[in-house]
Amino acid sequence: MSPRKRASIRLWQTELFVVVIVVAMLILSGALSAGLKDTLSEMARTHEIRNAAALVQRLTMRLPLTSDDLGGVRRDIDEYRIIYGTGIWVYARDGELLESSHDGKPSDAVLHAAWRGGLVESPSYTSVDMREGGWVVASKPLIGTSGSVLGIVVTASPVDSSLRILDAIRYRLWVTFWISLIIAGMLGFVFSEFIGRRIRAMSEAAAAMAAGDFQQRLPTGFVPDEVYDLAVSYNSMASRLGEAFAALQESESAQRRFVADASHEMRTPIAALKGILELLTDGAQDDPEVRDDFIRTMSVETDRLGRLVSDLLTLAQLDAGSLRLEVTVQWAADLLDNVTQVMHALAERAGIALDVDLPDGDLQLLGDRDRVIQVLLSFTDNALKHAPAGSRIRLRARSTDGTVTLEVVDDGPGIKTDELSRVFERFYRSGTARTGTGGAGLGLAIAKEIVEAHGSTIEVRSTPGAGSTFGFALTKP
Ligand code: ADP
Repeated sequence: MSPRKRASIRLWQTELFVVVIVVAMLILSGALSAGLKDTLSEMARTHEIRNAAALVQRLTMRLPLTSDDLGGVRRDIDEYRIIYGTGIWVYARDGELLESSHDGKPSDAVLHAAWRGGLVESPSYTSVDMREGGWVVASKPLIGTSGSVLGIVVTASPVDSSLRILDAIRYRLWVTFWISLIIAGMLGFVFSEFIGRRIRAMSEAAAAMAAGDFQQRLPTGFVPDEVYDLAVSYNSMASRLGEAFAALQESESAQRRFVADASHEMRTPIAALKGILELLTDGAQDDPEVRDDFIRTMSVETDRLGRLVSDLLTLAQLDAGSLRLEVTVQWAADLLDNVTQVMHALAERAGIALDVDLPDGDLQLLGDRDRVIQVLLSFTDNALKHAPAGSRIRLRARSTDGTVTLEVVDDGPGIKTDELSRVFERFYRSGTARTGTGGAGLGLAIAKEIVEAHGSTIEVRSTPGAGSTFGFALTKP
């Protein structure tokens, strides 16, 4: 099924602009032409009444009107028709037409209504017919000195001039309407193109991101607020996704390195054990001295394998967050004593003295006893491996603000500055240790994680040729 085709923003926007203009112009021209028609008819009415009033003023001097003396009236209305350009009818009170002067005329019914209106409506009567061929009519009574109505003056003008004004204005309105329509359509098109281009850029950037390119960023300059907000959110999402993706890749490759290193470390003791077993079965077991030597080596290799497996297990637990710490109050003296007891024999064999430096015997701290001892053993073991015979290793506890710092200080060869940051990496062994038979390079990596699980960090200071100090601080209870 093909995806449903939707109209583009450009089309929507252009249509919207055009519809808005059409509706606005229709309302505007409707209201304007109705208002204009009213105004024009009102103006024509006022104008006509003024004509009628002026004529009434003049004819009042001719009262009373008698049918045999209408010469003066005749002259007056002729003169007025020329001045005002309006048709004039003068009626007697009973409706008899006494005189008239006009070019065209409205229907007799309209004139009759005007006569009647002038008679009964005070002070004047008007009517307007704003249609093609229509008339504006006004009538006023001629009132004698006694106050009685002696005649009616009717004036009438065609509304054609008003209609022409109305038509001219309507014509201009139409022209304005079409020009506005074209401009609105063009503006809608240009504006929607402006927005559409940015939205297309967004969809292209999103497609690029879906294809794994997290470097794409959207421009945020000169765009409407909503597009700006969208671009900012998109950019921050892209950078966070990029970081997360990079971290994921980094952790995946770290995981692969870890598995490769672990397999490599296991292969060495297994190969040694296999070799010895082959030699034993090939007849070496018959020589008791060789056999005992092989059995000792096998025991060493098995221990090494056991330690490695146990270290890997600890790291796996730390990685999975399943290593539970049992944090309780500990005596610093007790922890350091424990370490010296375990390491005593090893130190004696290496000809190295183990000193405990504990200025305050009452120092207490919060930590998981077994894990803290494990870290200190790891530090001491490393120190014993590197310190020269006849030197001293100091196990120190000192009180700092709110914490107790535990340290192992040796007089060994120290660690080169460029190696210092790497000694906590998994399977990292310094140049000198790489070839030896020491650990697998996991001791400090595990120590680091255990200390960090306690909410602390390992501090290391080392000067090549002048020894190293490994330590960490734990909070006091
Ligand atoms: P290993 O278990 O192989 O000793 P570690 O993780 O404990 O591995 O130590 C990593 C490396 O750091 C070691 O190979 C060693 O070279 C170096 N190192 C650790 N402690 C010391 C020290 N006190 N003096 C000199 N080098 C040290």
